[in-house]
Amino acid sequence: MNQIQMLMGGERRPASNGATFERRNPLDGGVATRAPAATAEDAVAAVQAAADAFPAWAALGPGERRALLMKAADALESRTEAFATAMAGETGASGLWAGFNVHLAADMLREAAAITTLVGGEVIPSNVPGSLAMGVRQPAGVVLGIAPWNAPVILGVRAVATPLACGNTVVLKGSELCPATHGLIIDALQDAGLPAGVVNFITNAPADAGAVVEAMVAHPAVRRVNFTGSTRVGRIIAHTCAEHLKQVVLELGGKAPLLVLDDADLDAAVNGTIFGAFANSGQICMSTERIVVDESIADDFVARLAARAQALPLGDPRQGPVVLGSVVDQATVEHCNALIDDALAKGARLVCGGKAENTLMAATLLDGVTADMRIYHEETFAPVKAIVRVQGEEAAVACANDNAFGLSSAVFTKDTARGWRVANRIQAGICHVNGPTVHDEAHMPFGGVKDSGYGRFGGRAGIDAFTELRWITLQTAPRHYPF
Ligand code: NAD
Repeated sequence: MNQIQMLMGGERRPASNGATFERRNPLDGGVATRAPAATAEDAVAAVQAAADAFPAWAALGPGERRALLMKAADALESRTEAFATAMAGETGASGLWAGFNVHLAADMLREAAAITTLVGGEVIPSNVPGSLAMGVRQPAGVVLGIAPWNAPVILGVRAVATPLACGNTVVLKGSELCPATHGLIIDALQDAGLPAGVVNFITNAPADAGAVVEAMVAHPAVRRVNFTGSTRVGRIIAHTCAEHLKQVVLELGGKAPLLVLDDADLDAAVNGTIFGAFANSGQICMSTERIVVDESIADDFVARLAARAQALPLGDPRQGPVVLGSVVDQATVEHCNALIDDALAKGARLVCGGKAENTLMAATLLDGVTADMRIYHEETFAPVKAIVRVQGEEAAVACANDNAFGLSSAVFTKDTARGWRVANRIQAGICHVNGPTVHDEAHMPFGGVKDSGYGRFGGRAGIDAFTELRWITLQTAPRHYPF
């Protein structure tokens, strides 16, 4: 069992009232982690520690910030084993997924290190004679990052890496479902030698999330918020941020469509679908959730897909390597069982897998899904996938867009120009032609449209999100005044 602490101003801390909460393993119910249950006052103290550390960190040269972030990347990678153990214990994730998480998260820190010298600005021609006008990017202040459990290392690091690179100080609010995993990120940042207070860490009991988040958002030193999680909670956080006039980046749920057009390379489409649908048991915001297949090739495609899906190794990740580990909780199992019942009652056909009894869920494919079925619209966030058969490209695009979410998407076709045209018509922040829906790189403009949220994390878009753009002028010649 892990026993962890919070971090404020460089000091490890329990909750001020000594309260804790437990995270239990989804498979055997054993206590995986005991973590401090912060009060709203504790959370405010963490923000205050970040505010106190801000002036010095913001003033540090970009080279020094870069060196520390590079060290943090190495420190993170040196903990790969510990991350795998913590993730298997807290969320049931496979070692494969843990390794990928650490790899991409380290990349995010190195990419953040690379952009420290890009936080600059521009000279803007002024209509006033002698006025040297500049648009100057400056650190915003304290950034509150709220990260979920499903890709815990990637999303925990993403919540703080670009903000730190831009000269902000941060408070990471860990997920109630993986406090020890998120705590390991903090350990790595501390080992790298970031000054006290630059990174702070809060954990809270599930029932206190609303109060803890609201107290932090309300603090005047918090100038930016970023949230990755469900659309339901994203709306609450958007309201809270609006109330306090705080800018927020929202990375929310998804229901990614993968289009297999009539001229697709079926092997490539099957490989992309298997990976995108079943990596981390489908618990990725970019997971392929709707497989939209042209009727003319659907029988062949579905047969090949089912053969691959049925062969995916499933089991307790603590016992050895698997592709499908445990899903995060029994509620996911029950939600999916209800979606399967609903689809079958309305005429869908079960191709493989089926209802689960515990959190070890098999790869499940439902063919002949139609718009009147819940699984057509609702995120499963599990290895249960809908196949929708359509006739022609127009119907495929219409189906892709017939959803409230719009994060990732993909289209498979041998005609790349056709792929480009279709990609441009899909209402999603991200579209990959002949690639899987699950694809993230640290420097790409990652983010969604519609109910998948707003704002972008990577590259220059990330700099824009986590800095203030100021207009500063220097009058270099006598200024003319009308009176
Ligand atoms: P969740 O929304 O249930 O929880 C996320 C966070 O919200 C937790 O830290 C929790 O403390 C906080 N929270 C809960 N209630 C709150 C309240 N009333 N006020 C303020 N904060 C509150 O999400 P989850 O189940 O942890 O994550 C799964 C979801 O995240 C899925 O929908 C998935 O698609 C989405 N997701 C999106 C991305 C992306 O980049 N777009 C990435 C990963 C996951």
